[in-house]
Amino acid sequence: MPCFATHLESTFDQSRLPLHQTQTTHGDRPIVVRYDLAALRRLVSRDQLAARPPGFWKWRELLPHAKDEDAVSLGENATPLLDCPRLAARIGLRRLRIKDESLLPTGSFKARGMAMAVTMAKALGITHLAAPTAGNAGGALAAYAARAGIRCTVLMPQDTPIVNQIETAAYGAHTFLVDGLIHQCGAIVKEGAARGLWFDMSTMKEPYRLEGKKTMGLELCEQMGWRLPDAIFYPTGGGTGLLGMWKAFSELQQLGWLDEERRPRMFACQAEGCAPVVRAFAAGSDVAELVENAHTSASGLRVPKPFADRMILACLRESNGRAIAAKEGELRSWAETAMALEGIAVCPETGACLAALQQCVRNGTTPRDSDVVVFNTGAAQKYVEAFAVELPRLQRAALDWDLLARG
Ligand SMILES: *Cc1c(COP(=O)(O)O)cnc(C)c1O
Repeated sequence: MPCFATHLESTFDQSRLPLHQTQTTHGDRPIVVRYDLAALRRLVSRDQLAARPPGFWKWRELLPHAKDEDAVSLGENATPLLDCPRLAARIGLRRLRIKDESLLPTGSFKARGMAMAVTMAKALGITHLAAPTAGNAGGALAAYAARAGIRCTVLMPQDTPIVNQIETAAYGAHTFLVDGLIHQCGAIVKEGAARGLWFDMSTMKEPYRLEGKKTMGLELCEQMGWRLPDAIFYPTGGGTGLLGMWKAFSELQQLGWLDEERRPRMFACQAEGCAPVVRAFAAGSDVAELVENAHTSASGLRVPKPFADRMILACLRESNGRAIAAKEGELRSWAETAMALEGIAVCPETGACLAALQQCVRNGTTPRDSDVVVFNTGAAQKYVEAFAVELPRLQRAALDWDLLARG
């Protein structure tokens, strides 16, 4: 099968960089993969791709590696796009769908990025991978590194959710708790890479995680019959999810595979305790300032300064989107509302999206008849601290039937 990836491109000065080298950044900015989309369009049709069995690797012509047998895979299924009528009614929208990424390996959308990035790292002969993490990226990297038989080191803030600590260590990664936030973990990983200890897999500091995340946008478009929603609400930390989809939509448009040219408005959702993108967007700035003392139970959003800040802000403006912060108390309550109304295991990060969506419906930013998709980026089950509950006790010897009847 031909590979249509032609080169890497610097987002610093748009210079062309050769493929298949272990380059991480250029001019301290992200680099991205470019394809010969004209050739791809001549040789492959969207119907051919759509006819393949569902899942991540069906999109291989739009991914950087060429050989199927090299894929490092844990069974990346296509995730469901679920209609949520009761939740839509609660928010005041005519129709709302949730794309439930919690069903991927390791329980979050981070699997998409790591499946691709670890596949490429293995093909490039890299023998030791390292990353800072706010939680789910560490677990996913550790799992895919184990699958590939590659050494792995993960650095996380000491108050990272316990499930992320456990899974990362159990997948065999050298796992360290750091007395700092993710950017401080990132500084250690960067220095270790400079010392030649490992390859830096940080968000947006190598080009392939973004390509994996792109499959979210490709899959959504196919599931919607080759059209796109009016608006997407996405919880934004480092920005790969948002940017991966935006890149997917751009490539689909260039391929002529979209039935309607219209692209969605992209809404970056954050938590008030760590909202660097919201602040920069409101200030009309091109770059985000570091948030001091960042805190939120939505650990995936605890990124005080995203490395790809310029790209995120450009995407929001280009799409006529917004950046919106949710109150800390709303994260859990909206996640629980979604769980109780629809039975979907919604993470606190997605709770931020639902709070943001309600704000937008109330103030008219999002009309009530809009076709909206919210991403559930991770499984609620990974956030035992955030969802801790106190349940009533039942004595078998003296059953309280009044209490049971009320329940
Ligand atoms: C990482 C993460 C996010 C943020 O994704 P980015 O691509 O870093 O913006 C959102 N939700 C969950 C559950 C995550 O793990």
